[in-house]
Amino acid sequence: MSATQSNPWYSPLLSLRWRLAVVYSALFGIFVILLSIFLYSSISNLLLYRAQQAFPLRAQALGTQLVQEVCTASSPQSLVSFIQHIPPSDVDQIYLLDHAGKVIASSSNSLLKQPFPYLNAAFFAHESNGTKTSFNGHNSGSTTSIGLLLPLQPSSGCLFPRILPAYIAFLTSYNDEQNTLRTILLMLGITSAFMIVLGALIISFFTAIMFKPLRQVTRATRALARGNLEQRVPLLQSNDEIAELAASFNQMADRIQQMFAAQQASERRAQRFVSDASHELRTPITSLRGFTEVLIRGAKDDPETVQRVLGLMKNEAERMTELVNNLLTLARLDEGHVPATNDIDLIEMVIECQQHIRKQSPGSYKLSLELVTSDRYSIRGNREQIKQMLLVLLDNAVKYGCSGEQKEILLRLDRPEARCQMQVIDYGDGITQEDLPHVFERFYRGRNAVDRPAPISGTGLGLAIALAIAQAYRGTITVCSSPGQETIFTISFPGL
Ligand code: ADP
Repeated sequence: MSATQSNPWYSPLLSLRWRLAVVYSALFGIFVILLSIFLYSSISNLLLYRAQQAFPLRAQALGTQLVQEVCTASSPQSLVSFIQHIPPSDVDQIYLLDHAGKVIASSSNSLLKQPFPYLNAAFFAHESNGTKTSFNGHNSGSTTSIGLLLPLQPSSGCLFPRILPAYIAFLTSYNDEQNTLRTILLMLGITSAFMIVLGALIISFFTAIMFKPLRQVTRATRALARGNLEQRVPLLQSNDEIAELAASFNQMADRIQQMFAAQQASERRAQRFVSDASHELRTPITSLRGFTEVLIRGAKDDPETVQRVLGLMKNEAERMTELVNNLLTLARLDEGHVPATNDIDLIEMVIECQQHIRKQSPGSYKLSLELVTSDRYSIRGNREQIKQMLLVLLDNAVKYGCSGEQKEILLRLDRPEARCQMQVIDYGDGITQEDLPHVFERFYRGRNAVDRPAPISGTGLGLAIALAIAQAYRGTITVCSSPGQETIFTISFPGL
């Protein structure tokens, strides 16, 4: 039972690209916010510091100005008009106090005749040293007022010293600076929000560009998984990890395609091999059945016919045995089954093969041996298999190379570089250009074997077995043939 899992609607937002964009945007946002906080606090400190420095100086100047005006003015009303004409940008409130701390005039006409609320009466009772005093004003909302109390001393030659109040008090909440700071905070907030949004858009745009090749790799992987083995990712000019991934993907796809093609070819070969083998086995089996029928139908009563039919049956049985043995050898070599190996002296083995072939295929041919160097001819391999390979070539040379007038076979042993080379040369009709590329294929039989009045016996497996044996011991086997002149089979193995 299988359960299909559908992706949630927000799954695209969980993608690596989006997560990276969110992380980068968050980092950028934090940076912008921290920068704004730093800018705001720097500007705020600077503005308030300057205002705090300027406030006492301005208060002092206004106090001095008041003393001068009162001492020279013609009427006491000048006190009220003086404090009411001071611009509000300098200070919020101005109070004139008598010696007991009672308000005798104020810029807003408030608290008149009342004790000054920001300093207690005890302060005025004991205060006689004539120094300025700071105090905290009222709280209006979030702003706190700062106050400064200055004692006033009549100047020398003052016309109205009795009119002069004892103290002047100033209150300020730095309104101008606070307004400026509020505007700066608003601007910084808007700018930060804009920069964060813009930054997030730019980051997601660039991550989209950065991740484009990755999406191509993903698409290509899906296509490959669906069976499109041709699918490749366009190679990138850059040298980064994504370009490496794309190159590795292409290499992997190449490899898979090659392996798939090799597997298909191997399956086709196996199918052909099985059908060829069945076909080849059917012929002797059919013949054996035919001969048995002949015997059953009465030929058994004629001793001469019986002898002849039994001889034919023996031939067919031998042919079948050879075929089955060859198939078994090829199947074992295909499996990679390599029997025990040992050092083989090739000269000794070639002489042994010469004797064997003369016994197996007697005839009037001449089989000679040529040693090109006096070096040692030793290789590592399984003696029986190497011998079988050489016998296949010698047997073919006798069968196909000595069927005409030329009846000479040359076995040449050489040591080019670090290899041991054996050549089997005959001077028969040779292999045609059409047959030459196919002679190592399984069950392939050339025209010179079958297109003749009396076909030469064989299974078409000899050279295929020779090739498989050569490959099993890191050797090679090649053929070159000039029809009517010479046919050379060359075997080469790494020498010892
Ligand atoms: P078989 O000998 O049983 O036909 P082989 O695999 O040994 O099968 O050889 C394949 C084919 O190669 C032969 O049918 C023949 O046409 C050709 N051949 C092999 N050796 C020679 C040779 N020395 N001269 C000419 N033709 C050859």
